[in-house]
Order: sequence, then structure tokens, then C-alpha cells
Amino acid sequence: MSNRITSLFGVRYPLVQAGMIWNSGWRLASAVSNAGGLGVIGSGSMYPQVLLEHVRKCKAATNKPFAVNIPMLYPAVEEHIATVIAEQVPIVVTSAGNPATWTAKLKDAGVTVVHVVASAKFARKAEQAGVDAVVAEGFEAGGHNGREETTTLVLVPLVRDAVQVPVIAAGGIAHGRAMLAAMALGADGVQLGSRFVCSEESSAHPAFKQHVVQSQEGDTLLTLKELAPVRLMRNAFYEELRQAYARCAGIEELKQILGRARAKRGMFEGDLEQGELEIGQVAAALHEVLPAAQIVERVMQEFRQARLQLAAMESL
Ligand code: NDP
Repeated sequence: MSNRITSLFGVRYPLVQAGMIWNSGWRLASAVSNAGGLGVIGSGSMYPQVLLEHVRKCKAATNKPFAVNIPMLYPAVEEHIATVIAEQVPIVVTSAGNPATWTAKLKDAGVTVVHVVASAKFARKAEQAGVDAVVAEGFEAGGHNGREETTTLVLVPLVRDAVQVPVIAAGGIAHGRAMLAAMALGADGVQLGSRFVCSEESSAHPAFKQHVVQSQEGDTLLTLKELAPVRLMRNAFYEELRQAYARCAGIEELKQILGRARAKRGMFEGDLEQGELEIGQVAAALHEVLPAAQIVERVMQEFRQARLQLAAMESL
């Protein structure tokens, strides 16, 4: 399969694995890249030396292109930018910040730059900053999320019409039929996060992976809009937040409840009650933990099958 995204990244399939804190290290990224997608190291939970190790291990584990996601609100963002340039990482996905800050420096160093947006307005801003592609991430997505709550179904056509650069759809996509739907909306590729949390190579705690595959509709909710909106699973921590909202708690109290390293506690250490369990709405449609390569193959197989089914309806 070849299109603007496969050409831009030099990959076989227009399928990107999301950079996810505590989930996507070199093992997952290299497995996805080896399987023909684009693997992404999530650097948001890594100290500078840790990212360097992951990049080097990823290079040793694959000769295919891979990327690093750098959230711009990360405290050591400058060191991470220096690492990806020094290590000649071919692609960087920036998120959670102004694309004008680092795009020119990365592009000057020969890096392909992708920026994650949750609105058409920010997609235009990213294009003006010179990015090579945007990820349009809708409300269904896990983790940090847009404030406007625009769903993927609405966001992708808005972004498609707003920019010329390739668009990668994200949020609620875990299967081939959703991939096809996203492409019908105008996307050139898709990004999957939750489905890869449920991979053998994800660095998430096994208890978190099992919790995700057993989850049901309605188990994820968006909260903490006043700090940084985040989609997570209901648990004791979420309940504490809900009670705080019920008594109209202020930002300081919310920050205090959140505390530090909740995401690590939940997703990496497996504390399912007190930790922050970031996952997308589509978790309800995930039922098993598989090797990443099998996930890539299955999604592509489902995509082809869905395309054939649609083609069979052509006479309508
Ligand atoms: P917290 O402030 O609650 O905790 C910081 C966590 O990040 C700790 O667990 C710490 O590890 C780890 N960490 C890694 N590098 C550094 C560093 N240079 N300085 C301080 N801490 C570091 O943040 P969160 O856990 O909520 O988020 C971590 C980072 O991930 C943030 O930068 C956030 O913006 C980013 N991020 C979050 C996403 C999300 O969806 N929640 C998505 C993408 C990025 P240790 O405990 O070992 O010290």
C-alpha cells in the first residue's frame, strides 16, 4: 500500500503507533516498525539518559524508520530535542505545545516533523510552522486530550479541509474498519494507541493491560479540564476527583489530589485504584493482548476486508 504517509515515513503501511508515556519504549516501537508500521517511542515519561538508551536500543532492534514523541510540556524537552538530533532519529512527533517552538530546528537538522492537534485551528498553525504532517486526535483518545471535545468523526474532515499536509487520524481507532472510515473522512493514515497498550511489547504493567481488555463501555471519562484534560479509567482516584468536583474544588485542590507520578503508579506500576489509567474509549472493544506485529497484520487485514465489503456495495 502506498500513499503520502507511506512515502513521507518510508514505511509499508500508513499505520502509526502512538507515543504513550509508560507504554511505548524501544521494544514496542521497534516491533511496530519491523511489522511495517511506524513505531514511536513515547519520551514524555523518560529522563534524558533513558531516552538516549531507548533510541539506541531501537536502532539496534530495527533498520526501519521509527519516531520519538516529544510532548512540549515535558520538563526536559530541550535535552530530548538535542538527543533526537544527535542520534539522527528520522521522525519526531511533537505534541502538547506550540509547533513553532521546535519545528524549524528539527527540520534544519533533517528531521521529519509531525505535530498532534485537536482542532483545525491548531492544524493550520502547525502547517504554518512547517510541519510535514499532522495527527488529528479526537475526543475518544486516551491520555491528554483537546479542550473542545471534538470527536474524530468531526475533527478529521475539518482538519483535512484546513491543511494541505498529510493528515493522520487518531482517537477511537483500533481496528481496520475504523482505519478505513478515517481514510474515507480524508485521513492519509491512522494512529493507534490503546490497541498497542494491549501488546506484549508495551511496557505497561500486565495488570493494567488485563484491566484494559476487561473494560466495558463507559469505563473511560475525560477529566481535569482545568489542568490538562485527560481521558482515563474510572477507579478510586477518579472517584476522589469526582467528589472534589461535586464540592466545587478549585485548581489548587485538584492539583493536590493529582499529586506527582500518578500515571507511572497506574500504568507502569499497576496500581489500578490510586494510579492514573490513561486509555481511549475504544478500550471497550479490545479483548486480548497480542504481539505488536500481529496487531499490525490484523488491522491491515481487517482494513482490506472492510474495503472489499464496501466495494461490494458499489451498485447502491
Ligand atoms: P508528573 O509531573 O505527575 O510526574 C512526572 C513523571 O515523569 C514521573 O513519574 C517521573 O518519573 C517522570 N519523568 C520523566 N522525565 C522527567 C523529568 N525530566 N523531570 C521530572 N519527571 C520526569 O507527570 P505525568 O506523569 O502526568 O506526566 C509525565 C510527562 O508525560 C509530562 O511531561 C506530561 O506532560 C507528559 N505526557 C503526558 C501524557 C498524558 O497523556 N498524560 C501524554 C504525553 C506526555 P519518576 O517518577 O521516575 O521520577
